Amino acid sequence: MSDCLFCAIVAGDIPADIVYRDDEALAFRDIDPKAPVHVLVIPAAHHATAADLSIADPALGGRLLALAGRVAADEGVAESGYRIVTNTGEGAGQSVHHVHFHVLGGRDLTWPPG
Ligand code: 5GP
Ligand code: ZN
Repeated sequence: MSDCLFCAIVAGDIPADIVYRDDEALAFRDIDPKAPVHVLVIPAAHHATAADLSIADPALGGRLLALAGRVAADEGVAESGYRIVTNTGEGAGQSVHHVHFHVLGGRDLTWPPG
């Protein structure tokens, strides 16, 4: 999709620190990390939200969650624990409207905080 930042990263038009890629998925480090490990897992195809993706291609949604787990393992946080976050809509803080799964780890992520 034109004007989509993450489609531009998939296309290679905008550089990113890519930790995994295949024909259908990409994982790359967040430019403004909120934890020592902060990787974004996205489909190569443009879907705005997790719900949209799950309706259009539920199997791909499942594979992306598996990839999030693989990334967590590769980054060394599978044992200590990690969080998968998907913001949906402006009010929830979704700033890029190409679905992405934040994989956060490497610090205390117990919930609720404090
Ligand atoms: P959201 O706010 O939509 O849940 O998450 C978007 C994420 O994309 C944010 O954590 C933000 O730091 C990250 N981000 C925004 N622009 C870029 C970019 O150009 N490159 C990378 N690697 N991450 C970005
Ligand atoms: Zn896109």
